[in-house]
Amino acid sequence: MVLIQYICPKCRCHLLWAMRTATVYCRKCDRWITVKELKEAYPLEMDPSKEKEQLKMF
Ligand SMILES: [Zn+2]
Repeated sequence: MVLIQYICPKCRCHLLWAMRTATVYCRKCDRWITVKELKEAYPLEMDPSKEKEQLKMF
């Protein structure tokens, strides 16, 4: 199971860790954030190759 940290693309508020299928609500902006929006806002952080690099460190 892979958890993603949901960060609101609009206010950059850290919300919670949830599965990729989840949709997380930002109270500040009164909007729902999906993984698709996260990928568009933070493409580097969601890059799978970065996950592999992190694994090498362990
Ligand atoms: Zn927000």
